[in-house]
Amino acid sequence: MDNPTRIDMMDEIRTLCALPPRLPCSEGERRGHEHVASRLAALGLQPSTESFRFQSNGYARFAAHAGVLWAAGTVGLAAPWLGTALSAAANASFFGDLESRWFWLAKLLPAGPSQNVVARIPAAGEVRERVVLMAHVDVAREGPPLFFAPERAKAAARFFRRELGGAPNPVQLVFWSGVAQTALQALGLAGLPTRLPQWALAQLHAFVALQMGRAAFSDPVPGASDDASGVAVMLAAADRLAAAPLPHTEVWVVATGCEEAMLGGALDFCDRHAAELDAFHTWYLAIDTVGAGSLRWCTGEGFLRRIPYDGKFVRFCREVATEDGAPPVRPYTMTFATDALVPAVRGLRAMALLALDEDDYPPNYHWHTDSPDNIDPRALDHTLDFTLRLLRRIDADAAG
Ligand SMILES: [Zn+2]
Repeated sequence: MDNPTRIDMMDEIRTLCALPPRLPCSEGERRGHEHVASRLAALGLQPSTESFRFQSNGYARFAAHAGVLWAAGTVGLAAPWLGTALSAAANASFFGDLESRWFWLAKLLPAGPSQNVVARIPAAGEVRERVVLMAHVDVAREGPPLFFAPERAKAAARFFRRELGGAPNPVQLVFWSGVAQTALQALGLAGLPTRLPQWALAQLHAFVALQMGRAAFSDPVPGASDDASGVAVMLAAADRLAAAPLPHTEVWVVATGCEEAMLGGALDFCDRHAAELDAFHTWYLAIDTVGAGSLRWCTGEGFLRRIPYDGKFVRFCREVATEDGAPPVRPYTMTFATDALVPAVRGLRAMALLALDEDDYPPNYHWHTDSPDNIDPRALDHTLDFTLRLLRRIDADAAG
């Protein structure tokens, strides 16, 4: 790192974690955004706040879909046509939710006010490319211990990495068992004896609905790594870029809200600015959960299937990783979602950076131990270094 920075990333993380819990649509989230806006203004930028409404609880969305699948499986034993139709509708609604494409059942859940804070850092010369940096201010509630207790989750990640080369997401299991339920119900309508497996799948969905329903009311996590770390890196990058703008690349800093509620901030940003941000010359970079472990760039992401990132963006990451003095970083395929999923699904250039431990698990993920004490400042430095190198690589390409 050549120049001293006015942003101290550890201070930023401690400040964000000292606020009331930054749950989606909460007072804490609003104050987190206020803090980010004040830091951007102190760097000489002109942040604006873009308000929107969104469903406030990510786990409730899973619970609602699993609950409807349970009801559809149970009703289906007495009223097969109705049960089959309800299961199929739940599958379609769940698919739309998981890929951020359409929202049916989620629209019935409680919503509240949230916001993104957006600031532009102009290029020094003619603008040829735009980079949208995204990091989320909001935090999750603690996940169901069955899946998120760190030792258990790490052991599962280690097992799957060894046996299959990568961990499936439990969400995939729930989604596909819902599809299997619909298929069994349809076969039942055709006269095949499928009542027992239909009943068994309905019980599985009842169990998932209970687990997720409980998590919907669990305690908020501090969110030091997920994602105060990303916000801190983004602010430090903004500091460098405001002092020394890139020749041909305008950088937008976007502190999102409601990421944990299912990418609400990224959805609002991409909708609101769709006309303004030229698809070909805009690069979306999400920085999410980079506070411990070793840095990865992703080749694609998605809950249900891998949505590949733009080939040029992936190539630039690979090239930057081999530059002299570059921080240690490797590729990774993510089976979860970050704010980058929204532009990726729309066919826009997207990329996510995250940090994982040796078992490919994000340390302290959605757990009460995601606190400032467990942040490794080296992970922040590596992410900032890689982000700035990547921006310079994009800009060098723009210069021709
Ligand atoms: Zn996150």
